[in-house]
Amino acid sequence: MYQVSAMPTFLVLLNGQELGRIRGADANGLENLIQQHLIQQHLPAAQAVKGELAATTEERTWLSRLVEDRKRVCTYTISIQLGPKCELIKMEWYEDEISQTLALSLIPSEEINAKSKLASGAVDEFAVAKRLLEWFHDSFFKWVNTPECGTCGKKCEGPGRGGTCTSAEVADAASRVEVYDCKNCNKEARFPRYNNPAKLLETRQGRCGEWANCFALCCRSMGLETRWVNDSLDHVWVEIYSTRLGRWVHCDPCENVIDTPLMYSKVGAWAGVVSCADDFNFHLQGWGKKHAYVLAVAIDHVRDVTWRYTLNHRAALSRRTACREPVLRNFLNKLNKRLADALPPERQQNLKLSYMRELVEFLSPKCQLRDGSQAQGHGRESGDAEWRLGRGELGIVKPTSDKVEGQPIRPTEGEKKAKCLTYVLPPYISALHECPLL
Ligand SMILES: [Zn+2]
Repeated sequence: MYQVSAMPTFLVLLNGQELGRIRGADANGLENLIQQHLIQQHLPAAQAVKGELAATTEERTWLSRLVEDRKRVCTYTISIQLGPKCELIKMEWYEDEISQTLALSLIPSEEINAKSKLASGAVDEFAVAKRLLEWFHDSFFKWVNTPECGTCGKKCEGPGRGGTCTSAEVADAASRVEVYDCKNCNKEARFPRYNNPAKLLETRQGRCGEWANCFALCCRSMGLETRWVNDSLDHVWVEIYSTRLGRWVHCDPCENVIDTPLMYSKVGAWAGVVSCADDFNFHLQGWGKKHAYVLAVAIDHVRDVTWRYTLNHRAALSRRTACREPVLRNFLNKLNKRLADALPPERQQNLKLSYMRELVEFLSPKCQLRDGSQAQGHGRESGDAEWRLGRGELGIVKPTSDKVEGQPIRPTEGEKKAKCLTYVLPPYISALHECPLL
């Protein structure tokens, strides 16, 4: 009917009408076709600049920030030790044999692997990631809003102030330190924001940055192909590759959630004031985040994975004003080409094929609505309620009498003690929360 003469051929159809086609496994061609169509359909003509690939000063600054995480992870402490040579070392922390061995000495790896076998006897990466998340979240890592005082052990009250990192903190790649005055013993308490994941195996605490960083090391130690994912608003998580499923799988260690990429952007109906003394069985319907750019960084490639994390591609595209789409695509393509050139041909080919599959997956937002997922309505659980509310990440709360999909909120210890959740939710969680990167 569409006169396909080569395999694979990608046809882009709208209401049965052919808008374009790509013959052969041409990932860049497919990506261009998708984006060109979206831009022509949904953005003002002025933004649909074709063939103009020279980045402006603002775009250049933004693009360099975009890959900052990659650079940070690749080069931060290593640059202290090795100087300029570090440019050649990619995501080295997660590949480091000593760091991986240290992680494996803590992970119940044999038990996890034994319980994650397929009928064929092969270990299933998805099952490994699920069990690893459970262990990491429930038994290993701790969330920190404000640190405990190192002298008397009492929890400090915020807000902290910025301090200067000591040389020991810098040696473990602390990018900054928060300093608190303990109201109990009047001593100073420090909360260094370490970036070295091996150091985090020791401290076992932090906010989403530390959680994702240490969890990524644990994933690599277990042999999972791993990406670090940054949402350009303020959250980070991890993706692992499942050979069985033939796709990348979302993993959020802070929340102990796997394969639920839409939980960040999903919102429900406004439910009014919430007040509850005894029963905490609320249901949350996602964080209400409005993503613009979500980037996934692996040791040998960087991908724009925004389309996995939002149902409304058109709205996401309209928020992407930091850089013209062709400039961003060109930049990422060239960056990936540079990284791929250093890889063996077999890996290059595998990467190309998995990228093709990923692009096809991005074509339909509904691909991300996973059957049987219990956590599509998962509001943020890490952090106390006030902090979550401040970030607008409590999702929309509904009483359980309404039939909604989702999971009950688990109150924090403070909330249980007070037996009360008595805050007024904002009428609609819509604003972009311009919090500093946590
Ligand atoms: Zn104290």
